[in-house]
Amino acid sequence: MTSFSYPDTQLLIDGVWRAGAEGKTIPVIDPATGETIGTVAHATGPDLDAALAAAERGFRTWSAMSAFERSKIMRKAAELLRERRDRIAWTMTREQGKPLAEATMETLGGADTIDWFAEEARRTYGRLIPARAAGVTQLAVKRPIGPVAAFTPWNFPINQVVRKLSAALAAGCSIIVKAPEETPASPSELIRAFADAGVPAGVINLVYGVPAEISEYLVPHPVIRKISFTGSTPVGKHLASLAGRHMKPATMELGGHAPAIVFDDADLGAAVKVLSASKFRNAGQVCVSPTRFLVQNGSFDGFVSGFTAAARAIKVGNGLEEGVQMGPLANERRIPALEALIGDAVDRGATLVTGGRRIGNKGNFFEPTVLTNVPTDARVMNEEPFGPLAIINRFDGLEDAIEEANRLPFGLASYAFAGSAAVSEELGRRIEAGMTTINHNGLALPEVPFGGMKDSGYGSEGGAEAIEPYLVSKLVSTMHRL
Ligand code: NAD
Repeated sequence: MTSFSYPDTQLLIDGVWRAGAEGKTIPVIDPATGETIGTVAHATGPDLDAALAAAERGFRTWSAMSAFERSKIMRKAAELLRERRDRIAWTMTREQGKPLAEATMETLGGADTIDWFAEEARRTYGRLIPARAAGVTQLAVKRPIGPVAAFTPWNFPINQVVRKLSAALAAGCSIIVKAPEETPASPSELIRAFADAGVPAGVINLVYGVPAEISEYLVPHPVIRKISFTGSTPVGKHLASLAGRHMKPATMELGGHAPAIVFDDADLGAAVKVLSASKFRNAGQVCVSPTRFLVQNGSFDGFVSGFTAAARAIKVGNGLEEGVQMGPLANERRIPALEALIGDAVDRGATLVTGGRRIGNKGNFFEPTVLTNVPTDARVMNEEPFGPLAIINRFDGLEDAIEEANRLPFGLASYAFAGSAAVSEELGRRIEAGMTTINHNGLALPEVPFGGMKDSGYGSEGGAEAIEPYLVSKLVSTMHRL
């Protein structure tokens, strides 16, 4: 396999890649080895002021360009990302831990997302409203909302940025991205593709630093007109209230605790295959990861044995190695977090069927884990595990399953396997989640809505609705006869 060298990551401010004003850096750790592999520049006040001034100028330039021109530049960025995928995927695996195949898919998926939004850029139609008086035209037009501040996490270093960045650019907005300090280099390569494709200086600015300091400064700042955040629900609530205090619209893509319901009349083999692959992808550090498996009585034993066999067969290791299917957790703090959740569940009477422990003492490796018969008051039934941990419980009938699915304040993804069309229709209607996928995994394509309800946040980051939050409607009413 080709090897590359891991880069030190810089800020991008007003079209210039550079160090932070105070020269501070943050170390970057390889989660598979524990080694320090590089650094990322740390932005402080003067850098943020420079980024804000650049975003203000960048907004004037970019919003004045035609959608046709913006779209062409975006497509070029997508092509550069595809050309550079080997190096970018390698970089992502080094800093985040996921297997190279997943990192490659994420990079190529990023290019597809850019293409989708480049197409949408050209369809931000307005409408002509019939006027009451002769000689008057009333136009409802859509204008870009203004400079955006976007905050993204470490689990999908490219995917989380590309959804916000592409929607903002398609609408004609400039943006300041606060990308994750743990996994800084791959999102910086994404942004380099846009810069190299010809996005003018100041339109995209990239910073890293202390997340709370940056958000406290950018969110209230008058230059910023729109906030987008992906991360945990507590941080999302904090940022949404900060945004609200300053009357800034926000998109919040937060935590989940997805139910996965398997009925007796479902294709059990397909359910095991699709759901185990979804559960252990990216070591379970996925906001839409299936977590609470609810299996109807007659299929419970078969599902548990099939799922457990799939979990035990997963090859865990350094994501750069051939054949590895699950890498380490992205940061060390997730290990005690998982151990505490598992310990609590077992203390309350759950059965640990497989896994449950850290693997080795170098790197953040953790066994694919299955818990069954977990009582509702166990912490893991109520808190997002964000790791390779499946909870499998049984249910009697449709009403029980729906009641448990809707029990939590979260409402992001949900999964079901059912043979009956009537049951599928009812699940699609009654499950309180922003996304329900039945008999397959159909989530997260650029062209379909992606977002939550309840405590999982608001706003969509996929499909035609994803561009709307970056636009404002404006009326232009003109009397033509003077
Ligand atoms: P965390 O709550 O400390 O941070 C989550 C993300 O928010 C990180 O990227 C962090 O840099 C950022 N952040 C934290 N405080 C911030 C602030 N004041 N302003 C701006 N950004 C801020 O959690 P963590 O330990 O990094 O991750 C663990 C939990 O976060 C998980 O259990 C999961 O619930 C959630 N998470 C969700 C997603 C997602 O895709 N929705 C992604 C990563 C983490």
